[in-house]
Amino acid sequence: MKAAIVSIGDELLGGRIHDSNATWMSRRMAEAGVGVIERRTVGDDESAVSAAIREVCVDVDLVVCCGGLGPTEDDRTRWAAAELLEEPLEEDAGALEGVQGWCRERGLPGSEARRLVARRPASATFLENSAGTAPGIRLQVQGTTVYMLPGPPAELQPMFTSAVQPHLGGGNGDARQPTEEILIAGRTEVAVADLLGDLLDRDRRPRPGIRVGQGLVRIALEDCDGDVTAAEMRSAGDRIRQRLGAAALPRGASTLAAALGQSLLDRGWTLATAESCTGGGIGAAITAEPGSSGWYLGGIQAYANAAKTSLLSVSEDLLAPDGVGAVSHEVAEAMASGARSALDASVAISVTGVAGPTGGTREKPCGTVWLGLDDGCCVQAREIRVPGSRDQVRSGTVLAAMAWVWHCARDVQAPLPWERST
Ligand code: ATP
Ligand code: MG
Repeated sequence: MKAAIVSIGDELLGGRIHDSNATWMSRRMAEAGVGVIERRTVGDDESAVSAAIREVCVDVDLVVCCGGLGPTEDDRTRWAAAELLEEPLEEDAGALEGVQGWCRERGLPGSEARRLVARRPASATFLENSAGTAPGIRLQVQGTTVYMLPGPPAELQPMFTSAVQPHLGGGNGDARQPTEEILIAGRTEVAVADLLGDLLDRDRRPRPGIRVGQGLVRIALEDCDGDVTAAEMRSAGDRIRQRLGAAALPRGASTLAAALGQSLLDRGWTLATAESCTGGGIGAAITAEPGSSGWYLGGIQAYANAAKTSLLSVSEDLLAPDGVGAVSHEVAEAMASGARSALDASVAISVTGVAGPTGGTREKPCGTVWLGLDDGCCVQAREIRVPGSRDQVRSGTVLAAMAWVWHCARDVQAPLPWERST
């Protein structure tokens, strides 16, 4: 089954809102094995809407539109339905009663404008709106089913689930296509592509797609033709995981923090953090993970030199004007050891760096970060040089810090993202 999405709204064309409805519906349809072959965005204009629907109908079995179904003058989608069917709009008594009841229950005046949402072309069908007043509209155009859904996601999503999903092939909308996503930490997209070689060929079934998102390289396996079994999907995923070795997150871990937490739990280890340039970003990423209280003890944010001394016992000599300075191998090690003993943790990770855009020097340009790790057996420090803006340096540092602890907990020797070779 093939589908197209038509998103309607001047707000979308003007860049005032993001088309999250199209993304959400594309994903639902892909999961149901429906191929979305085209997405269009048009303004609040009935001729533009009806022309777009007529054009995309030629190639697909199903069109889903969103937006412009409300009662205000700028909402033109029902007029486009009238234009497509060459029928006038008629008031639907049942729908009108529904709208008036909805208003009564909420103490809202049943204004004349609201009556408009109870109007549809005679041969079209209304779709119940469980979260608002404007019903959706279903119609047939050149043998293709067209669904018109309201714009607000809180109304669109339940309507899509109840009215569209059951018709997405297989007879029941619950038939989820098998999917697989492999996440890789600490490698660039190009390095992963080189390593996987032929396993990323676009003519493979299931078809692999590679991208970077939230600091991880992500390989999604898609069942383009709806004929890949769950077992085939799983074994395709296993082949890729096998070739990636220790760089792939285990199945079921959707973030690096989750993978890290599982590795620490496997070892029976606890973790502490000491953060300067990330200002608590590592702790925030870790504590976003449910269950992190089982392995994360806490962190010390020590931004000023005085805080590094008083909270983490970093020697004043290191931080003195004639010392090595806060962004250094020695201070990163001292911060890790200070956090490990202050919190009585199995392992501690520290970061200290120049996030920029000011404060860089020739020796330590913006993006220079030292990471320290103390696991009770030895204390080490490593330098990374993260390119980009202040935000990118800080988020890259969070990722590198978590990657190092993750490697350490599994006894894996691997480079860190952006690690500076010495
Ligand atoms: P309403 O009855 O609320 O006017 P409507 O069906 O007429 O609903 P629109 O007027 O097009 O929908 O949009 C209403 C709101 O819904 C927008 O201001 C926006 O917040 C949200 N919205 C509309 N289209 C989208 C979209 N494609 N993705 C995400 N949100 C959207
Ligand atoms: Mg509207």
